[in-house]
Amino acid sequence: MTMAVLFLFSLLLTGGTVSAQTVPFTLAQGGKARCVIATAEAHQALAEELAGWLQQVTRGKKFPVQRLPVDQPAVVLATASDLPDLARQHRLAELGPEGYLLRTEWSRLWVLANTPLGLQHAVYGLLHEVGCRWYCADPTWTVIPYRPTLRLNLNRRERPAFRDRVIWYTWGAPTQTLWNHYHAWFRRNRQGGHFRVNAWHAYETYIPTSEFEKHPEWFALVEGKRQPTQLCVSNPEVQQRVVEGVLRFFERHLDQQMASVEPNDGGGHCECEGCKAIGSPSDQAFFLANLVAKAVRARYPDKWVGLLSYAYHSEPPRFPIEKGVYVQVTTGFRYTALSLEEQVNRIRDLGADVGVYDYFNVPEWSWDLPGASKSSRFREMAESIRLYHRLGMNTYSTQASLD
Ligand SMILES: [Zn+2]
Repeated sequence: MTMAVLFLFSLLLTGGTVSAQTVPFTLAQGGKARCVIATAEAHQALAEELAGWLQQVTRGKKFPVQRLPVDQPAVVLATASDLPDLARQHRLAELGPEGYLLRTEWSRLWVLANTPLGLQHAVYGLLHEVGCRWYCADPTWTVIPYRPTLRLNLNRRERPAFRDRVIWYTWGAPTQTLWNHYHAWFRRNRQGGHFRVNAWHAYETYIPTSEFEKHPEWFALVEGKRQPTQLCVSNPEVQQRVVEGVLRFFERHLDQQMASVEPNDGGGHCECEGCKAIGSPSDQAFFLANLVAKAVRARYPDKWVGLLSYAYHSEPPRFPIEKGVYVQVTTGFRYTALSLEEQVNRIRDLGADVGVYDYFNVPEWSWDLPGASKSSRFREMAESIRLYHRLGMNTYSTQASLD
């Protein structure tokens, strides 16, 4: 995926401007640090991380990290709450929870953001300006330029175009090492976001197949036989179980903004009289999502439930969608005659907030051959991301493979 990540993130992070009105700031000369890194206690670890990367870039001694306030030339890492006057002066609030400012002055390089997450993006945005790249998760693909004299002239105001940005891999053995590499790569490329989507296949987590023997009536009636493929969503006990499961999820994970109510993967939706009265598989999926969203919002007004518009439930439902339901529309497995634009607009018109679930690559589709997947067709990938943004889709998830 080498160039793809770079390309993608230059698109995902829009709104950057470079003004000629700044002055250059010298971080290092001939391999020697010419400044300190100054920050508040809360960002000490992030400042140390920056110091470590800059040491690799200049191949000199480690940049000293010290607490604010500071007198000597410094790279200052701070959030709006650390330096409220400066934040107001630079209208930082306009940049939102993940936006950041990089600005050079005579004796300062300001690295400012509204939140700790924004500050993390700011540090890696700065390192991107320096020329550092983390193309793939394996450290082999890390590129650190050698710049013994490091002088920057910056005035960038950045904010991400999508509220959540996720590229997930379907490769390799699930070892701790690969997991660590992936997570490091994820944050260094400013992935994630302040609005984390959760729309994984979830019915199984609320009513597992192991309940089938005792309660076949909770599961789908398919061709006259109960089967543990999907849930019988018209059954009041099923509705209650799912509502309770979602509420329990938020009790345990109050930091999470969204619980999934996405059906299990594959078909097999219920054909009982009650479910048929609700409607198609789409109507059934959105019916349950609506019901759960109402119950969730009664207790947690800011929480969401998420599901996909995908496969057998690609079609928009035939009724309005409740506030608090988030829908990621998939760009593959679209079992609908609507164009993507029609599908997205229809779902939004029904009341949902909408994001995209994309497919850079599915190994079974491409066998990872050159040019066979979207991830190796950069222009197409870039154009599609612009299109999703234009359609008002505000989160971006994609699955990927080895390329
Ligand atoms: Zn049913």
